[in-house]
Amino acid sequence: MLTTNRFARGSGVYACRVCKRNTRSTGRGDNEHVRLCAECFDLSGIENAVLDGDDVRKYADEIRSLYAAIIQLGGNAKSFNDLLFQLGDYCPDCGSTNTESNGSTEYRCVECDHRWGVDCGEHYGY
Ligand SMILES: [Zn+2]
Ligand SMILES: [Zn+2]
Repeated sequence: MLTTNRFARGSGVYACRVCKRNTRSTGRGDNEHVRLCAECFDLSGIENAVLDGDDVRKYADEIRSLYAAIIQLGGNAKSFNDLLFQLGDYCPDCGSTNTESNGSTEYRCVECDHRWGVDCGEHYGY
């Protein structure tokens, strides 16, 4: 009997390499070539720009909405936690959202007094 693997092709569904959720091929966008969902693809782009020295705060709204979208869709957004730490949204140590900023590049967790930030492009505290 001839068995055909009908899931191997033509399904248009793949698991995103980063958030692991299944995402449907849209037939548009470069994200499919690298096996990322559209959200992870956009966040990766922002992550690269930030690594290249762009100010993460420039992308704050975009990061937060993309991050929330991944979680809402059932994905695992953990690998982008760094971006949220850089925005001071979460404490890298205890996960608390009760954080404060010194007005520039350092954050402090009100709950556990953990401090983190970026100094001369070097991340510390997370
Ligand atoms: Zn993804
Ligand atoms: Zn903390």
